[in-house]
Amino acid sequence: MPRIASTHDTIARPGIPTVARSPVAARAAVFIDQDGALLDPLPPNAEPTQLRFRPGACESLAALAATGLALIVVTNQSGLSLGRFTRWEFSQLQAALERHLSQTAGVTLTDFVVCPHTPTPEGQPACLCRTPAPGMLIRAARAHHIDLAASWMVGDTLDDIEAGRRAGCRALLLDTGRETEWRRSPLRTPHSRCAGWDAVTPLILADRHSQCLPGESTAALAD
Ligand SMILES: [Zn+2]
Repeated sequence: MPRIASTHDTIARPGIPTVARSPVAARAAVFIDQDGALLDPLPPNAEPTQLRFRPGACESLAALAATGLALIVVTNQSGLSLGRFTRWEFSQLQAALERHLSQTAGVTLTDFVVCPHTPTPEGQPACLCRTPAPGMLIRAARAHHIDLAASWMVGDTLDDIEAGRRAGCRALLLDTGRETEWRRSPLRTPHSRCAGWDAVTPLILADRHSQCLPGESTAALAD
């Protein structure tokens, strides 16, 4: 079954800082948006056979995992609370995704975090986990001893970027054309952007090797 982020989890408690400070020994992670970044967008209630990974995604995740990075999928699935599909049906999709990653790339995800909640009528999160809120990242970081400041969020929309920045991560926009609104603010500005997965691994590894986490990369989103 998918691990469902809940407003009753620790992330919902008042007084929790937006950016978790991390112990020295904590592990770095790459958080990956599912629909649009890792996979081609799926129709509601998609069959597992409809899974299509973005070109180069599996190879990139394998290369990132080989360096010791934890890989954690985070995904908004409001169709669960809207009754468009059941948790069992979604779990079948998740299992197929994880099976494909394992069999084709030898990749095992550290976690797979789902927000099942619906947004407000204006499209804003009504919970602490739906992106652009950072709850899924913070929850997974606490569960797996993740150093958020050394971690990345990879997504194809500025909501993903905002979630990553709010969690204290670096944020990489995989610009596949799915972002259409471009509501910009400092929190919605990616540290880096690229058009495909073949550039994701070099960007993240170069940043890791730089150690100093420079303020904004040369590939930062221009106004
Ligand atoms: Zn939620």
